[in-house]
Amino acid sequence: MRLKVFGKLWRMVWLAKGEAVPGKLLASEKGLCESPDVVGKTIYIRDERPDAETLDTLIHEMLHAADWSKSEFWVHDVANDLTRNILKVFRIERL
Ligand SMILES: [Zn+2]
Repeated sequence: MRLKVFGKLWRMVWLAKGEAVPGKLLASEKGLCESPDVVGKTIYIRDERPDAETLDTLIHEMLHAADWSKSEFWVHDVANDLTRNILKVFRIERL
């Protein structure tokens, strides 16, 4: 699967429980976005947790892809806010 973020394409790879990406991602980590200058840049997302946590990780990694200069603190907080708001809106739409 490919994800387009702010005009650039990343490969997206699901990781199974306990799966690591040697030299890049530990088996305990939730996700990773490779730098926009990496050839074949990839976003890795672990597929073993509740959907809301996986959504948060996906948004988090896509925010890194959208603006690599943002701090981990900014990405973490914005991803949490966006995830919470998306879940809130979906609950409202389903009523
Ligand atoms: Zn991050």
